[in-house]
Amino acid sequence: MLEDLKLLVQLQTLDSQIDEREEKKAGLPKRLIPFKERVERINQKLREAKGELEDLQKKRRHEERELEAREIELKKYQRQLYQVKDNKAYAALEEEIALTKEKNEASEEEILKSLELEEGRIKEIKEIEEKLKEEKKELSREEEKAKQETEVLDQEIAKINITRQKIAKKVSPSSLSRYEKLRQGKGGLAIVPLEGSSCGGCHMNLPPQIVSEVKKGNRFVTCENCNRILYRKEG
Ligand SMILES: [Zn+2]
Repeated sequence: MLEDLKLLVQLQTLDSQIDEREEKKAGLPKRLIPFKERVERINQKLREAKGELEDLQKKRRHEERELEAREIELKKYQRQLYQVKDNKAYAALEEEIALTKEKNEASEEEILKSLELEEGRIKEIKEIEEKLKEEKKELSREEEKAKQETEVLDQEIAKINITRQKIAKKVSPSSLSRYEKLRQGKGGLAIVPLEGSSCGGCHMNLPPQIVSEVKKGNRFVTCENCNRILYRKEG
């Protein structure tokens, strides 16, 4: 086989190995997305639960202040009972007292109900916080894994690159530039093996004359369809 052809086959093998690793590296951040989404969802749930608790507390405190004010009112009415002179005023005051007591009972009930709901919310918030902690741990474990994988891939790429550069230096500049241009236009695959009588790049069936030319290997032969350089695989 033509020396340049042999070298380009080696170069292609190494470049494909680098591409494969670059692709893996590029896919790593995507793997983290579901973990990040899960954390964000739980965070959202936590914010909502906390907001609901705050609303309950705010309403309850308002109710408590109202109750307190009405208790003071009530005491005032009860003192006034001793001071009224006529039955009509007395009856009106008594009615007022009964009404205020009724309102206060309703308030107390409302406050108790709220306290119960708040307790439930507080428990729920604690549970969500626990879950969030777990999911965040899971996320950082995945991030650490991705970081380590990236480092391994980078090391592998650096190693392959050393060999690649040694080989690239031996290829004639014109062959090398032809190869590089083809690689850019053909998704990284510039030189492909014969597969029976088909192109190993686009799988198009090749004319017998081309196949026999490729098998001889003493010049660059390209696929008529995809324009890639063809070679015959050894063995
Ligand atoms: Zn082809």
